[in-house]
Amino acid sequence: MKRALVLFNQAMRWHDNLLLSEQADVDQLIAVLVLDPAEYLTTQYGIQRASLPRLQAQLKLLLDWQKQWQQKQLVLHLRIGNTSECLQQLAQQYQAQSLIAAEPTAPEQYQQLQRTGLKLELYDINSLLQHQLRPDLVTLPKSFSAFRREHEPELWVQQPQSYAVSSQFYGVPEQALDAATTNFISRYHNPTAALLNEAAALERLIQFIWQQQAVRHYKQSRDALDGEWNSSLWSFYLANGCLSACYAWQQVLDFEQQQIANESTYWIRFELLWREYFRWQMRQHSSAWFSKNAFRPPLDFSAPVPDQRFDLWCQGKTGLPFVDANIKMLLHTGWMSNRGRQNVASYLIFELQQDWRLGAAFFEQHLLDYDCASNWCNWAYIAGVGNSGARQFNQIKQALTHDAQGDFVRRWLPEKTAAGALVHLPEAQVPVQDFWRPFLQQLKTKT
Ligand SMILES: Cc1cc2nc3c(=O)[nH]c(=O)nc-3n(C[C@H](O)[C@H](O)[C@H](O)COP(=O)(O)OP(=O)(O)OC[C@H]3O[C@@H](n4cnc5c(N)ncnc54)[C@H](O)[C@@H]3O)c2cc1C
Repeated sequence: MKRALVLFNQAMRWHDNLLLSEQADVDQLIAVLVLDPAEYLTTQYGIQRASLPRLQAQLKLLLDWQKQWQQKQLVLHLRIGNTSECLQQLAQQYQAQSLIAAEPTAPEQYQQLQRTGLKLELYDINSLLQHQLRPDLVTLPKSFSAFRREHEPELWVQQPQSYAVSSQFYGVPEQALDAATTNFISRYHNPTAALLNEAAALERLIQFIWQQQAVRHYKQSRDALDGEWNSSLWSFYLANGCLSACYAWQQVLDFEQQQIANESTYWIRFELLWREYFRWQMRQHSSAWFSKNAFRPPLDFSAPVPDQRFDLWCQGKTGLPFVDANIKMLLHTGWMSNRGRQNVASYLIFELQQDWRLGAAFFEQHLLDYDCASNWCNWAYIAGVGNSGARQFNQIKQALTHDAQGDFVRRWLPEKTAAGALVHLPEAQVPVQDFWRPFLQQLKTKT
């Protein structure tokens, strides 16, 4: 009897999911999900890898996926523990010889799969460029623009597929959980955590594209700091594989054909291409991304040393209201807008002179949409390490553009009561940057 494990990490969806399909040369498939506490409860640079809300959201998602299998009278094994060990144990138990999984981008996850010693069959179900269009990592273009020019035309032919659930799935119901997993669940499961599963993803997709038609004005609204319909809020679902990027892409194309194709409808696909670019970049340079200058030699993996300014930044207490309000939003909601992320990152790196990797680790801790490639590569991009030149933002100018009346800052920093844009004035202890001055002037005259 030939058996294979099928790992559903980052593949918790029924749509466009090759992992569900009938497999040749195998008699039975054993479905499994693993949550590795090392990715959540350990620390990097002294920073816990996941906040409790991020861990709870993940756990809830995994439990929900298991329940969906149960409802279909199918067994999905959930294990909490070291990924390779859990997979090895299960393989031994069921006498499985190979492992089928979604191809990860995070080097540590890839290494865990390799360590199982099982024959691996990895399918890149979460990229736009899947196996037929797989770029060559050796000749991968360095810049996003070159990457986009080269690969965008191909994407017009890439279609999401629908796969029937294979009848090969097999499992003993009593083996669905083990003791360690049950203990972990009773300790960390929070029934009130938000359930950000495939159903929520598809509902959000339909609402954003078709019902609200928010995709029509996305290019104008995407830089907003908050708001339900200003950006797609697909990031959590894409990061966890609950939403297929190809499916989202195709839905936008369908909207363009049936309703309207404009700059905004194009721009959401443009942003999905940024995600794509960083996925391949992460694969190309792998662990070298975690070096001080990313993959630029010489590699330096020594841990960054923060000073007190980093702690204040983490608490949203730098004294620069625009930065602090964005951090408070992250701490309270587990999400921050792209514009907010760029500004707080730039401030940490350039004004507070801290190592970019500290900020990336802090984002990893708190972002519910944490995604290894999108997070670490975006941080490196702003810091100007890896492939890019530095991108420094002018927080006062940005505050005037994106929070002209100061409402966002007052919402997240209720102790700030100054009227209008005056709320953006830095506190006395904040060193005033020369390039802020004209905008500080504008800010005072505007109010
Ligand atoms: C410092 C920093 C850290 C980031 N960390 C993450 C992260 O951990 N996880 C994550 O998903 N995104 C990350 N991003 C990218 C981006 O900020 C978020 O994807 C976006 O804000 C999520 O909101 P949305 O889904 O409404 O995005 P939308 O504006 O609606 O964009 C649609 C989708 O395109 C993708 N996308 C958009 N912008 C980017 C980008 N700059 N890079 C890569 N993909 C993008 C996302 O998948 C997003 O869901 C980071 C950006 C910065 C500057």
